[in-house]
Amino acid sequence: MPQISAHCKALNNTLEKMDCSGEMKALLKTPQRELIVELPLKKDDGSIAIFKGYRVQDNNSRGPYKGGLRFNENVDLDHFRDLASVMTWKTALVDIPFGGAKGGISCNPKDLSENELETLTKRFIEKTSMLFGPSLDIPAPDMGTGPREMTWLMSAFEKLHGYSPGAVTGKPVEFGGIEGRVEATGKGVALFTKWACEEEDIDLSSRRVAIHGFGNVGSHAAMILSEMGATIVAASDASGGWYNPKGLDITELRSEQGKEFADREIEGEKISSSDVLSIDCDILIPAAIENTLTKDNANSVKARLIVEAANLPTTTEAEEILEEKGVTIVPDILANSGGVTVSFFEWAQNSQNFPWKKEKVDRELESLLKSAWNNLVQSRTEAKESYRQTAYDIAINRVRVAMLKKGFR
Ligand code: NAD
Repeated sequence: MPQISAHCKALNNTLEKMDCSGEMKALLKTPQRELIVELPLKKDDGSIAIFKGYRVQDNNSRGPYKGGLRFNENVDLDHFRDLASVMTWKTALVDIPFGGAKGGISCNPKDLSENELETLTKRFIEKTSMLFGPSLDIPAPDMGTGPREMTWLMSAFEKLHGYSPGAVTGKPVEFGGIEGRVEATGKGVALFTKWACEEEDIDLSSRRVAIHGFGNVGSHAAMILSEMGATIVAASDASGGWYNPKGLDITELRSEQGKEFADREIEGEKISSSDVLSIDCDILIPAAIENTLTKDNANSVKARLIVEAANLPTTTEAEEILEEKGVTIVPDILANSGGVTVSFFEWAQNSQNFPWKKEKVDRELESLLKSAWNNLVQSRTEAKESYRQTAYDIAINRVRVAMLKKGFR
């Protein structure tokens, strides 16, 4: 049976109590456009492989569609529909002028040579370029993609449409990217963890943190949280994890990038990837994939605070169990919004054709995220709901108002 994410429940709850027509609710719940393209690739050995590319454009009432491109073999249209919807609520919650989208290619990048991956990435844009552009739909990195893939995307797009750095975010700085984008999502996760600790009366500097997923987001969150004084006691990637009750050495963990945890020797005890979820800790950060916390493992979670760095990491059933246990959850649409926020700065920088300094990026990021946090905390106090439900109420209402005021299109 497919796992139902806590996102669906919060979305349905908000729509149920919202005073608007059934048609408006249907528009808020379903994507505006979906595209699937066939991507044939001649491999280095001469054989032909066929891949599928996807783009789901959920809603553009508040600005151009915005959302990452994921290269992963476990993706399909339903997956991208949920992730695109999450982007709509995320950009509305932090109040930046974007809508929501998501897409990618169903492939395992590790099975492809660099040359094959470049051809496949450029082919994706050749087949979908009519959707994209700085004022239409702006892709960004997600799982399996990074600055290298964004450069290929931008290059393929510019071949068809001319110089357009604002058509893609998450690019290298040398091609119009912005300082601080790589670590932005992890930085946001760390900041929300700090603010949630303050709100929940938890002293972060004496707390133990476990991080499930140690890629871009998890590793940067770990580094910044340890700089804030927290102790990272456990961390895992897809191959396995490490535990050290005295604290893992984050610099050591972040070295040898690309080498899997299971093949490394780190000071501590070797554990499985899923062991991290039930390890003895105060704060748990799921930073890997969807549906990580389920009814089968939620009861064994020991953390008091969960900060959702990944998108859709908690199922509805898991959330009910966790709430029953008194665990506080900072939802994904807020917790990992630092990335899209700095993407917004990158897009603004590109339209000015003038680079922002790192200090300005850091200052504006913290200020914008803090406003979103303060607004959420205040609304939650008034509504007496969970952080997730309050966040959905705020975000969906903003999109509904934009749709009504702008008129349907
Ligand atoms: P990444 O590809 O850099 O890293 C993913 C990490 O998760 C890797 O360490 C991988 O080994 C691990 N992983 C994968 N499958 C796993 C499994 N089954 N069990 C345990 N670990 C597993 O990806 P990322 O960019 O760090 O993204 C992580 C999550 O954060 C995703 O849900 C993504 O949608 C979300 N996110 C990313 C950004 C961003 O800016 N990169 C922004 C917002 C949200």
